Amino acid sequence: MPPKDKETVSGQGCKPPVTVYLGLGSNMGDSRANLQRAVALLDLHPEIKVERVSPFLETAPVGYLEQPHFLNGVLQATTTLSPQALLAAAQSIENRLGRKRTVRWGPRTIDIDILLYGDLVLKSADLTIPHPRMQERAFVLQPLALLAPELRLPGCLETVGALAQKLAHPAAEK
Ligand code: AMP
Repeated sequence: MPPKDKETVSGQGCKPPVTVYLGLGSNMGDSRANLQRAVALLDLHPEIKVERVSPFLETAPVGYLEQPHFLNGVLQATTTLSPQALLAAAQSIENRLGRKRTVRWGPRTIDIDILLYGDLVLKSADLTIPHPRMQERAFVLQPLALLAPELRLPGCLETVGALAQKLAHPAAEK
């Protein structure tokens, strides 16, 4: 077989990048630095390009209340990773930043969630997209609305901006 030229080889198997939104949260250590490091590590991944990052908002804990307030943000990125591979990349960054899984919904140095992956709707054993209950959660919707107010979740008539406005407790920018 004749050798393939570089262009042909690099063009093979290329998938078009998908726009994704990731939710970030931290309430242990220097939360702002943890969020910034997570953004930087995600962007360092060869198949993830961070496009925009929301302001970081301080929010009250949900679920397990006896813990410090969170700092939350959302980023928009493009990726050629599959949803599963993106989850693995996010979890490896969580581990690298010292996340210990102890109490469910408990304190964490960093939490990285896949909120949206294009307009994909997926429910598997370890991955649900859009992220479960994101429509009701101020700590997700408010930073997302600052980034992409006109965005609509798959199958949802209302924009993210309209959904965020309906929430009772606005989060404060920090
Ligand atoms: P958490 O404690 O919030 O980091 O939850 C992590 C668990 O949620 C992991 O075991 C994931 O497999 C699961 N999970 C389900 N859907 C998602 C999603 N969209 N993004 C991140 N984790 C998810």
